[in-house]
Amino acid sequence: MSEFQRPPKIDVRQAGQASQQLVGHDLLLNYERLLSETQGLGSQNTLNWSVRGELRPDQAGLPQVWLHLSVHVSLPLTCQRCLGPVDVPVQIERAFRFVETEAQAELEDDASPEDVLVLSQDFDLAGLIEDELLMDLPVVPRHETCPMPVKLMAMDAGFEEALPKPSPFAVLAGLKVPGKH
Ligand SMILES: [Zn+2]
Repeated sequence: MSEFQRPPKIDVRQAGQASQQLVGHDLLLNYERLLSETQGLGSQNTLNWSVRGELRPDQAGLPQVWLHLSVHVSLPLTCQRCLGPVDVPVQIERAFRFVETEAQAELEDDASPEDVLVLSQDFDLAGLIEDELLMDLPVVPRHETCPMPVKLMAMDAGFEEALPKPSPFAVLAGLKVPGKH
């Protein structure tokens, strides 16, 4: 199993043939479109991803290339009730089948329960991960229980007394020394 941080570009067919497994822990920082959903919050959150290639025979016994993707990340979205940030865990488990051409993918995607994509030698795994997360975001994110709004501390009579008194040295320094100008 290979460890990465950023999801690399992969040769999908090769990944399938080799039953390749890739695992990584990336930062949310690297996903611009997701960060715009979080208003820039959570850039240091870990995005855990893993992918596994597989060759699986179709009904005619011909080998088909599959990728199994799993992603987990916590996204600070905006609560639609109190408008404060709310951490929403997003977990994705998805399988993709790959075909030779765009036309074939379009044709088969509608008729298949799985997503059908086009084979590529430098497939953009990071792009796929971001697309899938964006599609899986909750429409109305909100807290189970919204936190109480923070009340401002009222100023009371003790406030002035708590101010630091000027030190005697500061007072002395302010005095003019006679004869010295
Ligand atoms: Zn809330």
